[in-house]
Amino acid sequence: MKISIDILSGAGRKTSAAILVTYQSDLFSKPIRFLLDAGGALEANEDKGWIQPKDLDAIFISHDHQDHMGGLIDIDSDVPVFATLAVQKQLPTHLNLKTLPVSGTTSVCGINITTGSAGHSFGGVWLHLDIGDGVFYSGDFSLESTLYPFTFPPMASIALLDASYGLYDESLDQCKNELATYLNDDKHLLMPVPQTGRALEIACWLTSLGFEDWTLGDDCISPKDALSGPKEGIFTNMRSVLERIKKQPFNLSAKAILCGDPDGMGGEAKALLKQPERYLPIYTGHLPEHARQAVSKGDAHFIRWNVHPRRRDLKRLIDHLECHTCAPLFNDIKDLKEWQQALGPSITSNSYIEQNNDINKKTFCVRTSRAEHV
Ligand SMILES: [Zn+2]
Repeated sequence: MKISIDILSGAGRKTSAAILVTYQSDLFSKPIRFLLDAGGALEANEDKGWIQPKDLDAIFISHDHQDHMGGLIDIDSDVPVFATLAVQKQLPTHLNLKTLPVSGTTSVCGINITTGSAGHSFGGVWLHLDIGDGVFYSGDFSLESTLYPFTFPPMASIALLDASYGLYDESLDQCKNELATYLNDDKHLLMPVPQTGRALEIACWLTSLGFEDWTLGDDCISPKDALSGPKEGIFTNMRSVLERIKKQPFNLSAKAILCGDPDGMGGEAKALLKQPERYLPIYTGHLPEHARQAVSKGDAHFIRWNVHPRRRDLKRLIDHLECHTCAPLFNDIKDLKEWQQALGPSITSNSYIEQNNDINKKTFCVRTSRAEHV
């Protein structure tokens, strides 16, 4: 048995996610090749940085954010693409779509794929592949969401984890306190947000403060959408809150305007950014170049709303998985020793991982590039 994991894109920096898993076993007549996520570029005019591997048996999409599914536009229509029903609604229509449960196990090419809620977005999941001693891919995940639960996965010897925030360790409650100070600003607050992610979560939080003067963009997941989705994808105690905050029509006069796109490069957010005298932009996630400039000039603010794991969350999940090798994704690991001190000896900064399990021997190796193996 041999498992090869080639991080085609997603190692070393925040960028599109695309991970090729190849599994060779005596049980199968040929190697099984799965692609985990098919991300698109995060910056305008940037290439996604990977090409469709040959002979793919299936593609699995963790969630519907651009950097995890934006590359599907280039994928052949004959490759099966697995995603939850909520995520499928946001995907290109030419694809050969197959359904994953938010929580459950699906057999694909004879391999059990377990999925669970990732705590990051509506319908978003992590993936556990029952090969070798288990391969776990988190997609984007958070342990702090009060709207989207995180379900702890089965153990795995190899873990590929969202580490978008690096070793940052502040709590979401600190972010909320900072954000609350802007509710008294003279201007309307324009908050560009992922339409299926933190948009509704922030609306729920504002409501919990007794602040009801918010509006959600028409393309954002609404309370009604969330209530009609899979029950595993929403915390049970939030259902009564969602029942109460029935969506209002999009209202440009609301104090807090939550709308897409999250980068302010399209949709309502792009249009409203052209009225700086009326709207104060507050970014809570990834900052593209134009937003970085606006923040540095003081024309916009950045207050992180945690939707990715903190250092303590990564440690908790690594300990839970009992993994032998863990590749943190979507961040530059400049000082490997610092990361290993924080998260344990399983941390690797390499983009290629290989595991061999024979009856008489069991070896792991991690290498820096696939070229060393072919
Ligand atoms: Zn995401």
